[in-house]
Amino acid sequence: MHYDVIIVGSGPAGIFAALELLSGDKGLKVLIIEKGMDIDERVCPLKTREVSCRACRECALLSGWGGAGAFSDGKLNLSPEIGGFLSRYVVEDDLKSLIGYVDDVYRRYGAPDRVYGEDTSELKRLQKLSSMNDLVLIPSRIRHIGTDRCKDLLKRLREVVNAKADLVFRMDVKKVLVNGGRAMGVRTSDGQEYYGDFVILAPGREGSRWLEAEAKAIGLSLLKNPVDIGVRVELPASVLEHLTSVTYEPKLIFYSKRFDDKVRTFCVNPHGEVVKEYLKGLWTVNGHSYSSSKTDNTNFAILVSTYFTEPFDEPISYGRYIGRLANFLGQGVILQRLGDLQLGRRSTPERISRGLVEPTLKDATPGDLSFVIPYRYLTDILEMLEAMDRIAPGVNSRHTILYGVEVKFYSRQLKLSNALETEIGNLFAIGDGAGVSRGLVQASASGVIAAREVLRRRGNV
Ligand SMILES: Cc1cc2nc3c(=O)[nH]c(=O)nc-3n(C[C@H](O)[C@H](O)[C@H](O)COP(=O)(O)OP(=O)(O)OC[C@H]3O[C@@H](n4cnc5c(N)ncnc54)[C@H](O)[C@@H]3O)c2cc1C
Repeated sequence: MHYDVIIVGSGPAGIFAALELLSGDKGLKVLIIEKGMDIDERVCPLKTREVSCRACRECALLSGWGGAGAFSDGKLNLSPEIGGFLSRYVVEDDLKSLIGYVDDVYRRYGAPDRVYGEDTSELKRLQKLSSMNDLVLIPSRIRHIGTDRCKDLLKRLREVVNAKADLVFRMDVKKVLVNGGRAMGVRTSDGQEYYGDFVILAPGREGSRWLEAEAKAIGLSLLKNPVDIGVRVELPASVLEHLTSVTYEPKLIFYSKRFDDKVRTFCVNPHGEVVKEYLKGLWTVNGHSYSSSKTDNTNFAILVSTYFTEPFDEPISYGRYIGRLANFLGQGVILQRLGDLQLGRRSTPERISRGLVEPTLKDATPGDLSFVIPYRYLTDILEMLEAMDRIAPGVNSRHTILYGVEVKFYSRQLKLSNALETEIGNLFAIGDGAGVSRGLVQASASGVIAAREVLRRRGNV
């Protein structure tokens, strides 16, 4: 069967590319190949029985219809500065209207009406307070779908796409087929070849290593990437309430005094919970919040980005190395009271139980993060907590809990045109896997960009 367009991956990037291609009655033949499972089958076995996380061929939490975002917190970041790098490819006004377009689709399929971060006078006051204390507050507008609503929203999208496209699940694409400098299809792990006029690669972070290897194999240029290393911080929700009630996700930036490193908050979850994340042999930490059930705590990450200089060029291995050290010492994720870290002693179960913050992640080992996190990062993190304490007293409390480590990898960026086409004709690379996005909205928007270019070339617009 010959397709007009083949899409690899059914995360937000792939889904939005498909939606755009299939909208109206253009009669395009579209195939989506996904290595994970369909949305209803995506159940992590850890929820129901004691198994090793290594047991699954593909992680049900990260792979399948909806991609990594399916069980995410569903925070739709509506500010162009946040959640990706599309501003490198699209001028600001176009990016804003693209984000508005994507947001409308999410709302049509079930995202709630409320947007956080629209009280500009209150935001200005908080920005002023931040700048008086060595911090920069990036204004962000956020619509919060909530982990519990994400699945229904994705099921509705699934119905629409399934009515017009062919979907193949549990099948990974191994090879991009190229002929005379143009993409002509893909080969899957069972040896089957699928042919198409256009190929859109949307493999997410889950497939970024495959994409990097495949890009090298077909001669595409790769750009340099950083790695983000830090901790997840958990404290009473009341400490950040005056910020989270205005912006939901306060994005704060701080330049450390000792190293002049850029340090930032990331993924703030008001009244949320801290969770473990399994990244192919490595336990790291993350957080989310539900729209219906709330905890008394708020959590957020503090991250430091590092671009390594020549000759070192393995940021992912470096990040994994630090993460593995925490796993080695703590048999998983380590947690520590900030006061214990400041006093140079490990946390113990007794010290944690005497603390005023009850950890929401029960499956973490009380320990000492100073044995894991390099001095430079630790100094940056401690300095930022002090600065934050000046705008939100209580952040630097000895009862604040730190979990380590949180590591964020960037996928290797490919050299792309403004329409997100690779150096091979009719081959597009979008979403987190191609390094153009880092969140739901920009991943989705990147799908729209590629699809519109395909439609333009086919004369459909
Ligand atoms: C725990 C968690 C919470 C998050 N919370 C938020 C949030 O609140 N807000 C936000 O904006 N972002 C959030 N994110 C990030 C967000 O989920 C991603 O930015 C987004 O899903 C990226 O979309 P994507 O389509 O590029 O990739 P993905 O969503 O990763 O989808 C890629 C898909 O491609 C498939 N695939 C990979 N390789 C192949 C192959 N070779 N063959 C076939 N299929 C393949 C994968 O199985 C996957 O299903 C969160 C992520 C996680 C993990």
